[in-house]
Amino acid sequence: MSNTLWYPYTAMFPAPDFPVVKRAQGTSLFLEDGRELIDGISSWWAVIHGYNHPVLNAAISDQVSKMAHVMLGGLTHQPALDLAQRLVDITPVGLNHVFFSDSGSVGVEVALKMALQFWLNQGLGGKTQFLAFDNAYHGDTFGAMSVCDPIDSMHHLFSGQLSQHRFCPTDADAVEALLKDHHQTLAAVIIEPLLQAAGGFKLHSPQFLRDLRQLCDRYNVLLIFDEVATGFGRTGSLFAADQAGICPDLMVLGKALTGGYIGHAATLATTSIFNTFQGDSNRILMHGPTFGGNPLACAVALASLDVFFNDHYLDAIQALHRQLQEGLEAIHHPDIVDKRCIGAVGVLEMSPTYSLKKIQDHCLNNGVWLRPFGSYLYIMPAYTLRANDLATLLGQIATGL
Ligand SMILES: *Cc1c(COP(=O)(O)O)cnc(C)c1O
Repeated sequence: MSNTLWYPYTAMFPAPDFPVVKRAQGTSLFLEDGRELIDGISSWWAVIHGYNHPVLNAAISDQVSKMAHVMLGGLTHQPALDLAQRLVDITPVGLNHVFFSDSGSVGVEVALKMALQFWLNQGLGGKTQFLAFDNAYHGDTFGAMSVCDPIDSMHHLFSGQLSQHRFCPTDADAVEALLKDHHQTLAAVIIEPLLQAAGGFKLHSPQFLRDLRQLCDRYNVLLIFDEVATGFGRTGSLFAADQAGICPDLMVLGKALTGGYIGHAATLATTSIFNTFQGDSNRILMHGPTFGGNPLACAVALASLDVFFNDHYLDAIQALHRQLQEGLEAIHHPDIVDKRCIGAVGVLEMSPTYSLKKIQDHCLNNGVWLRPFGSYLYIMPAYTLRANDLATLLGQIATGL
């Protein structure tokens, strides 16, 4: 394979020899060489319905015949208006305003910018820092990188170029200690609620999120939920915020927003944040991704939500959860350090010396697509994955370890 195409997160020397996918259907990837793979990770957790879904296909082709794209600057259109309203209806009560962008990272940038400007708009320009968490991952752009775990994330090379923020463990006492000392310089706390995904699939309790809400209120600091990975059912509820029963001040959605069809993101804000953005031109939100609110993305996102509710995905996620939990429980290997399950997520954490390349190759050779990284072997399938396919997948992990 040539090295003209530069792949993400990939050593390019020698040029990688990746399987070529020719088409995808349901939860299967069909390779050019004729093989079929059961997809265990739904294309970075976004393709929650599986591939080539008839309802999503119809929504997007219907929309493309009307207009593929129209800018939201100075113009508007029904798909964006409808999706904004739909998101307000299904997210925690209090999030009433929706800003669209084209990727999760940019959605996070927008949330950080809104938080800073919320304080600026009230004459509080000293609140310029964020409190984020050890093992956090919020994206690959510079603002997002600055709130990723500064040591363990893949961005440590750039630490000298990043704004400096504060980090602590997902522990209420640690948060309180930092807020007590630094609340005057802190704009917001940002967290991936319940599940820190790309930073190592670490879990924390709904109670911790309630504690965070209280602490943020007490110390006058905003709370941002990055639900790019957790949103749309992944942790077992529609949003992770639902399990805590709280409303953040800002919330970011991405990945599964469009059912994995097109990159898109939404940043939702409360009315008290939104209302500070009125007055002279200095108070306007100066952000405008060219493709923010793209009609194809909005149309397919609306169809994705219809399918989510019509097909009772929360029940399907519960069934997947039980099978993942029982399946992982039955897998034994001396290098397994921890087993974790939440919603439609199953994780085996291996000892740092264990090479997961072996299991990835074994699965690939036996009809299963998984892409472990670091010491984590994880399963985050489409919610439409059938029980017998999940059983096959778990069986290959068990024999391949
Ligand atoms: C994937 C991810 C992002 C970044 O989204 P992109 O669409 O890849 O830019 C941000 N936050 C979390 C929690 C994510 O999992």
